[in-house]
Amino acid sequence: MKLIYFDNAATTPMDLMVVEKMSEVMKTVFGNASSVHSLGNIARDSIENSRLQIAELLNISTSELFFTSGATEAINTIIFGAVKALSVEHIISSKLEHAAVIEAIKEVQYENKIEVSNVNFDEKGQINLLHLKQLLSTPRKTLVCLMHVNNEIGNILPLTEVANICKENNALFFSDTVQSVGKYKKIPLSILDFAVASAHKFHGPKGVGFMYINSRNKIPPLLKGGHQERNMRSGTENLAGIVGMAEALQLAFDNIDKDAKYILDLKNLLVEKLSSEIPDLVFNGDKDGHYSILNIGLPKISHNSMVINNLDVNGIAVSGGSACSSGVMSISHVIVNLNKAEKFLPIRISLSKYNTVDEINTFVNVLKKY
Ligand code: PLP
Repeated sequence: MKLIYFDNAATTPMDLMVVEKMSEVMKTVFGNASSVHSLGNIARDSIENSRLQIAELLNISTSELFFTSGATEAINTIIFGAVKALSVEHIISSKLEHAAVIEAIKEVQYENKIEVSNVNFDEKGQINLLHLKQLLSTPRKTLVCLMHVNNEIGNILPLTEVANICKENNALFFSDTVQSVGKYKKIPLSILDFAVASAHKFHGPKGVGFMYINSRNKIPPLLKGGHQERNMRSGTENLAGIVGMAEALQLAFDNIDKDAKYILDLKNLLVEKLSSEIPDLVFNGDKDGHYSILNIGLPKISHNSMVINNLDVNGIAVSGGSACSSGVMSISHVIVNLNKAEKFLPIRISLSKYNTVDEINTFVNVLKKY
C-alpha cells in the first residue's frame, strides 16, 4: 500500500537534491568550523556561504541571521532574550500560537513577573487588530508575539499591518514564521524585530533552523559555551544541516510560484470534493488562508471517533491535533480555543508538492466511509 502523506505542516519529506547535497558535505567536509586549520576553514566557508545564500533569498543581512537547532530553540532564545535585555514588561500573544511560544511565555512570565495579555480572535481564528491596539495603548515596553501562518488552521496574519501597529506603539514584534518561510517569496522580515524558521518544514533536514534578529535589537544567547554564531548560539554548528537548509530554501524559492499554484489547485479540489461528498463537515479556521493547510471538523454525532486511526489503517497520514512528542495525541489547543472540539472531530490536511490529484480523490473516498 502506497502511503498518502497529508501531514506536511508537521514535517515534510526531504527533497532528494537536499539529501544529495548533505551527503556530499558529510562525506567531504568534516572539519570543525571553529578550528583554525584549513579543514576548519573549509567548514567555516560552507556555513558562511549558506548564511549568505539564505540572507539573500530572504532579503536580510547576514549579521541578522543565526543558525539554531530549529525553531523551538530560536523561539526560546528570542522570548527569554528580549525580556532579559530589552526591558520588556508586557507580552501580548494569542491562545492560537504554537506550544513553543505559549510555553516559553509562561516560563518567562513566571520567572520575571511580567504581564501577559492574549489578543482576541473571531470564530474563524482571525486576530482582532482593534483589540491588539487597545492592549498596546498603555505605555510600557511590550513584546508582541503573533505567528505569521497558523500551523493548525492555516490562518495568515497581516504581517505588515501588525508590524505598523507595533511600530506606532513602540512595541517589539516577534512573528513565528515557521510555516511561511520557504512557502512565500516576499515575507517582509526586515520590518519585524524577530522571526524564526525550521528547515524540516520546507523539505530540508530536521534539527536545524534559524532566528532572524533585526540589527537594532541586541539580546543575550540562551546557550552559553564556545561563542559560536557570533556568541548568539554556542555549540558546534550542524554543518550538513545548515548546508541542507540553504539548499532546501534555494530549491523552494526557485520553484515557489509553480509549487504554490500546484498545491493551491490540490487544496481547492479537496475543498470542493469534501463540500460535495461530506456535506455535514465544517471548516475550522480560514479555509482560504495558507495554500497548503486545511482544517476540517466532522460532527461527532455522525462520524466515527477513530477516524484518524482508520485513515492511518488505510495508509493515509493526517493530523488530528499537533504532533505530540510523547506519542499521545491530545486534542489541539487551537481547535479547543476555537470552541470546535466539543462537537467536531478535527482533521488537519496539510499538502506538499509531492501530493497528487489521485491522492485527494482516494482520501475523500476513504474519509466519507467514516
Ligand atoms: N512554530 C510552528 C508554527 C511550528 O509549526 C513548529 C513545528 O511544529 C515550531 C514552531 C517548532 O519547530 P521545530 O520543530 O523546528 O522546533
